[in-house]
Amino acid sequence: MDAAPDLSQHLPPLLARVQKPGRYTGGELNQVVKDWLTTPLRVALAFPDIYDLGMSNLGLAILYDLINRQPDMLAERVFAPWVDMEAQLRSSGLPLYSLESKRALSDFDILGVSLPYETLFTNTLNLLDLGRIPIRSADRRESDPLVLAGGHACLNPEPMAEFMDAFVIGEGEEVMLEIARLVLNWKASGASRQALLGRLAKIWGVYVPSLYEVFYSGDGTVDRVSPSHPDATFPVLKRIVPVLPPPPTNFIVPYIDVTHNRIPIEIMRGCTRGCRFCQAGMITRPVRERPVEEIVGAIEQALGATGFEEVALLSLSSSDYDEILPLVEAVAQRFRDRHLNISLPSLRIESFSAQLMDVLQAESHRSGFTLAPEAATERMREIINKPVSTAQVLATARDIYERGWHTLKLYFMIGHPSETLEDVQAIADLCKAVLAVGREVRGGRAQVHAGVSTFVPKPHTPFQWVPCDTIEQIRLKQDLLKRTLRGKGLRMTWTRPEETMLEAWLARGDRRMAQVVFQAWKLGARFDAWKEHFDSAAWLAAFASAGLEPTFYTHRERPIDETLPWDHIDGGVKKSFLTEDYLMSQRGQTRVDCRNRCFACGILPKYAHLRRENPGEVWECPEVRSPQRAASLSLPVEAA
Ligand code: SF4
Repeated sequence: MDAAPDLSQHLPPLLARVQKPGRYTGGELNQVVKDWLTTPLRVALAFPDIYDLGMSNLGLAILYDLINRQPDMLAERVFAPWVDMEAQLRSSGLPLYSLESKRALSDFDILGVSLPYETLFTNTLNLLDLGRIPIRSADRRESDPLVLAGGHACLNPEPMAEFMDAFVIGEGEEVMLEIARLVLNWKASGASRQALLGRLAKIWGVYVPSLYEVFYSGDGTVDRVSPSHPDATFPVLKRIVPVLPPPPTNFIVPYIDVTHNRIPIEIMRGCTRGCRFCQAGMITRPVRERPVEEIVGAIEQALGATGFEEVALLSLSSSDYDEILPLVEAVAQRFRDRHLNISLPSLRIESFSAQLMDVLQAESHRSGFTLAPEAATERMREIINKPVSTAQVLATARDIYERGWHTLKLYFMIGHPSETLEDVQAIADLCKAVLAVGREVRGGRAQVHAGVSTFVPKPHTPFQWVPCDTIEQIRLKQDLLKRTLRGKGLRMTWTRPEETMLEAWLARGDRRMAQVVFQAWKLGARFDAWKEHFDSAAWLAAFASAGLEPTFYTHRERPIDETLPWDHIDGGVKKSFLTEDYLMSQRGQTRVDCRNRCFACGILPKYAHLRRENPGEVWECPEVRSPQRAASLSLPVEAA
């Protein structure tokens, strides 16, 4: 293994035949190249889509920085090769390699795959195949890398269970180093791969699927998932970090244009708003904020290290950050002479202030301003627990146009539970009303762009039991919008219904879905998130060959007492809270932001000791002082 060949010398002829060879060369400013031979543990961090997208993935940047800070470990990057490069690799017989040292994936000790969304599943199989790693966990030999996945899509790991040796459930900063340290010790011990899997299963936040068995009922639903190994914890509780660790600042600066050429700084993790369709809002609790000084200091360092001209202050809902105005003012003031562009990608209508707009107006370019009402009638917004009034949407739109923006981007979702065609028509009406406001303020230059996606009921949300719209229902709603949401100044984009179906199958699938993923990949499915590559026929053929019915996963309302394929994964929020919230939605009842009133969603009893050790403003949840309460906690914590 130590003599793993560096493939650099074989690459020039391949790179001469592909678009954007800069995707495959590495060598950028701030990449970390450690000595391959003398570094005991080697980790490949993969994002299973192209470089242009993967380089903007903050999770990858965080882990790259953390691992490379360890003197006895190295981390290198791997991205999915675009189809032209895949053809070159296959025809030349070369394996997929890491960008830093140009070593084959199979030469690493660990391959960590980032899975933020489900449409990356087939690309992951392709990545393993191109990297010369057996696709199924059961087929891997002692010398093969340990293959891990993490990211939001792993909160239902079952459709990828056959392919992964282990999943990280939740936040990776601490657990990734524990896993890496465990693998390092395991390498020295000479113990078997099976022994390694057993030890991994004892780490809090690690799910080793091969150590659990799934039993099905006669009607095809999951009866139960049971641990089949004494070290397999049940359920597997999501890992969190009690306090956000310092953000990375030494970002790699690509040679080629990528999705986001900017400094990404996470200002806050978690969301307390409780939108019922939003998986991220449910699975990233509790809310933890970074101090203003830490953020400003990180921007200073990152600017020095990269020369980027834009900073993105990231979170699920940036205007909910407690000190958002002082933060934006501090950043604007400190970096005024550098003409730094400040971007706040996720702003909520209710927590957005005219003052904040004034600062952003001074600092930002005016290409467009984004708001996400998600639904256009107040009835629907109550059902999804995003209770903003139409008057508030229009008033915010006016404020935005008055501050110099010409284009307002509005995000909506169709397919929410109990939605009618009137609710859909209201999307077009609201867009026109917003445009009318824009016209009053900015005249003929005002524009509204409506981004209309389709709701997929995601695991660990209050809507996890509801059915997805059928393709016919989605088409009917989209056709209505295409007819009515048109005219000068209006633009609409939408998601193809077939792509929504794929996302729903994969998000809601059980372990049998692995057969479908595998067959679809064998039939040529990859880059499923790319319109030009998505192959609906391959997926339907894969379902047929696996003997599974796609609608079973998507169009069936699941009874509250059904065992869901992901019930053995504990996302922190308790199922009884989700159930109660689901029933509240059916009654049109809403909950306020839980910063104002805790609804006992389950976070505090599960993470009581962490909250007790980190009192005050570090978390937005109430404090836990009682030792008895903390003692009742039963975290499956095991040091690696
Ligand atoms: S414990 Fe309370 S405050 Fe914390 S996330 Fe849950 S509901 Fe919100």
